[in-house]
Amino acid sequence: MNLILMGLPGAGKGTQAEKIVEQYHVPHISTGDMFRAAMKEGTELGLKAKSFIDKGELVPDEVTIGIVRERLGKNDCEKGFLLDGFPRTVAQAEALEDILKELNKNIDYVININVDQNILMERLTGRRICKNCGATYHLIFNPPSQNNTCDKCGGELYQRADDNEETVANRLEVNLKQTKPLLDFYEQKGYLRNINGQQPIDKVFEDISELLGGLGE
Ligand SMILES: [Zn+2]
Repeated sequence: MNLILMGLPGAGKGTQAEKIVEQYHVPHISTGDMFRAAMKEGTELGLKAKSFIDKGELVPDEVTIGIVRERLGKNDCEKGFLLDGFPRTVAQAEALEDILKELNKNIDYVININVDQNILMERLTGRRICKNCGATYHLIFNPPSQNNTCDKCGGELYQRADDNEETVANRLEVNLKQTKPLLDFYEQKGYLRNINGQQPIDKVFEDISELLGGLGE
């Protein structure tokens, strides 16, 4: 079960990744975790990556791809893996094809959790925080009983600058632009499966399970 998980911020990718890992016992391979592990182990590539991260620079593709190659070659990936956050570009996707060929593996599915942009906006801008005690709320998922007022202490609620409409809209736009060519790439390869992410969490996972149930155990 070799999977790539995709979805815009707010689509619920993290939640579904957890569920997939729990149910199917495949390692969850996110770029961040992979970098941290390689740095901790002090591998040559890990140290290289660290030198860029420490300078606040982007880790170049060749280093990232090398780390992915090392990670996918480990024993725990024998029965499958769930890649999350990689690839980000078509160039990386092409490099991944080469890595998998070398390792005699192939991608089963690229699962894209699809959610309309206006719903993502609602999800991503809904957070409110109490000025007084720091309690967090969400206008959709965990609304305060009285508008703009903390249930715990009566304090006033505010929205973090990161969560405001303009910032979130920009973030989504950047992500969308980056993701589109990648989705097209995988569509052409026949790997892409779109999952409706505008359903309750359990229903989304049910749809994913149905898809994965078709893979040989
Ligand atoms: Zn409060």
